Amino acid sequence: MLQRFLTVSLVPLLIGACTAETHGNVASVPAPPENQAAASPARGVVSAADPRAAEAGVEMLRAGGSASDAAIATMLALTVVEPQSSGIGGGGFYVRAAADGEVETVDGRETAPMAASPDWFLGEDGKPRGFMEAVLSGLSVGVPGNLRLAQDVHARHGKLPWAELFQPAIALARDGFEITERFHEFLSTQSHRAAASEEGKALFYGDDGEPLPVGTIVKNPKLAATLEMIAQQGPDAFYSGANAEEIAARTAAATPHPAGMTADDIAQYRAKQRGAVCGIYRVWRICGMGPPSSGATTVFAILKQLERFDMAALGKDSPIAWHLFAESQRLAYADRELYLGDSDFVSVPVAGLVDADYLTSRSQAISPDSTMAEVAAGTPPGVIPPIALADGDEPQEHGTSHFVTLDQWGNAVSYTSTVEGSFGSGIMVGGYYLNNELTDFSFSPMKDGKPVANRVQGGKRPRSSMAPTVVYDADGQLVIAVGAAGGATIPVQVARTLIGVLDWGLPARDAIALPLLFSPGDAIFVEEGSSLEEMIPALSALGHSQIISRRLPLKTNAIERTGQGWIGAADPRSEGAAITQ
Ligand code: GLU
Repeated sequence: MLQRFLTVSLVPLLIGACTAETHGNVASVPAPPENQAAASPARGVVSAADPRAAEAGVEMLRAGGSASDAAIATMLALTVVEPQSSGIGGGGFYVRAAADGEVETVDGRETAPMAASPDWFLGEDGKPRGFMEAVLSGLSVGVPGNLRLAQDVHARHGKLPWAELFQPAIALARDGFEITERFHEFLSTQSHRAAASEEGKALFYGDDGEPLPVGTIVKNPKLAATLEMIAQQGPDAFYSGANAEEIAARTAAATPHPAGMTADDIAQYRAKQRGAVCGIYRVWRICGMGPPSSGATTVFAILKQLERFDMAALGKDSPIAWHLFAESQRLAYADRELYLGDSDFVSVPVAGLVDADYLTSRSQAISPDSTMAEVAAGTPPGVIPPIALADGDEPQEHGTSHFVTLDQWGNAVSYTSTVEGSFGSGIMVGGYYLNNELTDFSFSPMKDGKPVANRVQGGKRPRSSMAPTVVYDADGQLVIAVGAAGGATIPVQVARTLIGVLDWGLPARDAIALPLLFSPGDAIFVEEGSSLEEMIPALSALGHSQIISRRLPLKTNAIERTGQGWIGAADPRSEGAAITQ
């Protein structure tokens, strides 16, 4: 049964209000207390996917740096020690939650070269190219955004000199860092990407072609030199001159498909300050990253559609709670597929997608007793008719790193950084990997004669799942900052963590450790080896016919306010760590 949900909303639409927040329920946003900025000093915390990167951030906090300083230092250190996931050759999204309740988001997502057109990923036969064929070519590389993002936020919120933020990363690259078990596993399983260039092969593999053993100290002098140059000369040294020319030359020479990226594309790149997307879940104000990310709208829809159910009473061991979670995901992902793309290029009904009335109405399709027979996207307020959009078909990938920082003034930064898949495109320039972010676009520009929202266009940013999120309580106090890596599972990992903390009263570390159930369509994926496997019979009895147990790419990092002060939490499935100042 095709379900359409027509709702009428009186909430004024705030689409296009560049730095204003877009709210799910504007009327009930609690005003932050006026004296919040003067709250007592907090101990700083950094939570990141690698302890060496978390330490780089904490070093900045100890030197009197801000949460933004710490986040930039963490992003740079991750470029060195976790190159499979993120770095200066990629992009990211930054959410800053000020102690006074103000939320700011900055988009450092990669852009397609101006030469890109909707047929970018189509072969001579007019059909989409194979995914890995596109990844390991020039076509997948977008203009990197992380350093322009860093420049923008440092100019407004930095307290330490720009060059100081680079020192821990430079030391790691110059003096060497140890190959961990997790990194070794990536080098083993992803050698077609990590060793795609001679530079990558020489750095991380022995003469026999095998990855260097766990415990080996690797030095990356080229990256140390690149970072030193940007530290001394500023981000323009990345976006122009020899570095930019090398990116353009390497992507233009890439086989089997070169890209038309030019030095001018790189010089033109700008990070964008965008309005935060916020909504009220029960009493909490949840804010995150809007388009080109699907993160905030998807996290919020999953939560809001569950609001009419007593998740607290059901508890974490109830199969009905996990069934409801699955059903809410199905609805949220149907909207995500249809509507989300870069709102600078296509009309995205952002305010409508998080509108409280719309989501409450959409939630009526969810029953605690049985599964929905069929799920389709709804019609949120603000959709510009005719709805000439169709589902995208971009494959899923698993790279990315999330980190959270909190400074002594109580301001937090929730930042997700990525090169898209493991080791990005495999193309290495100056000791860092270039991303493959453009494969986050839909390969097919049209479906059934309708244009896909997330089709490739010159200068456009591909749709993301990244969901850096922050949460304030009813008194306007910041209580949690969280985010995750793991492709399309990201909004679900964030929503699961928030349900764990807000509804089930768990400490963040236990909420992150909860198993994951991922249901973006008709199938349900349960985390292999987790307690959810025992619920499969109960979920089947509710009508779920495709339940697949699978290893899922999970890696969440968070910080939370507790009675004992701020505490960081990292995913026990990862090598992540939280370090206090
Ligand atoms: N590139 C993906 C995105 O922006 C994230 C990749 C991953 O986490 O696997 O949604």
